[in-house]
Amino acid sequence: MTGALAFDDGSQAVRVRVPAKINLHLGVGDRRADGYHDLTTVYQGISLYDEVTVIAGQQPGVRVEVFGDDAEAVPLGTDNLAVKAVLALGEEFGVAPAVTVRIAKRIPIAGGLAGGSADAAAALVACSRLWGMPFTDRLVKVAAGLGSDVPFCLSGGTALGTGHGERVEEVTANGRYHWVVATADGQLSTPAVYAEVDRLRESGIGSYSSAVTELLEALRTGRAEELAPQLRNDMTEAAMSLRPQLREILTAGADDGALAALLSGSGPTTLFLARDVHHATALAGRLRMRRLAREVHCVHAPAFVSVGLSPAQPG
Ligand code: ATP
Repeated sequence: MTGALAFDDGSQAVRVRVPAKINLHLGVGDRRADGYHDLTTVYQGISLYDEVTVIAGQQPGVRVEVFGDDAEAVPLGTDNLAVKAVLALGEEFGVAPAVTVRIAKRIPIAGGLAGGSADAAAALVACSRLWGMPFTDRLVKVAAGLGSDVPFCLSGGTALGTGHGERVEEVTANGRYHWVVATADGQLSTPAVYAEVDRLRESGIGSYSSAVTELLEALRTGRAEELAPQLRNDMTEAAMSLRPQLREILTAGADDGALAALLSGSGPTTLFLARDVHHATALAGRLRMRRLAREVHCVHAPAFVSVGLSPAQPG
């Protein structure tokens, strides 16, 4: 076992800090006969983190505790993606889990920031440390079985995602980017936004943006001004159709001087690219004054998964 803390009562714990993800490019293919959509996406982790501590004890099974502002909206049983992750890893490697998963939640729920996928990935990383497993393709396969975003969330950083987003390869991103993240009241269901994409496509609205070459070149320059014109999200029209207020905040951010305004994943979180940290702070102040968002955060990217050794004491 590596990277785990041992306590006096014999229990061990691993704490993993995992970033939310944004999609710098989210190209959505037409609905296939099997119901899936091909995706071409460029993921990037942002410095808005959940913290997941997995504590190994004696009692068989998986318990989950969730703390944070919206903790009551997170399922506590086997519907919790972190619990699913522990069970799936145990099954793949023949380990009977006896753990408590403690989630300190800061990533907004159902906001298009992959918070559930991030917790699942963090639980996989923590359990693989606790159970002494190397980071191999088998772990990535378990991650892909849990959800399209989970393989990316195992490490964060910047990556190209293909397939349904589950096939990831790291890409070069130089520099540090500054974003303003505006969360919204209420949630937007990802399947509902996909269904709206399909409906709009049937009436000839929208098409699959699969080309990312220019975006990848912009990322190599490390300059936000180069990145801004390359950002794309094929779900924007559909999300705005379901939630018309999104148009208002996206326009407001652009009017307030953002280099680019972008829907995060399937929304309803919105993202505004800034030139630098000072620009981000000023932009966030202006957006707060408009009172269009629930919360406004300044973050930087790329952000990565980290494994720490100072979890809260097991209770
Ligand atoms: P995606 O775009 O991947 O669907 P999202 O960011 O829009 O993600 P999540 O925050 O992952 O949405 O939440 C989607 C749903 O998943 C929630 O409504 C919630 O009921 C469920 N869920 C299960 N486990 C978790 C978890 N650990 N954290 C947050 N939500 C979870």
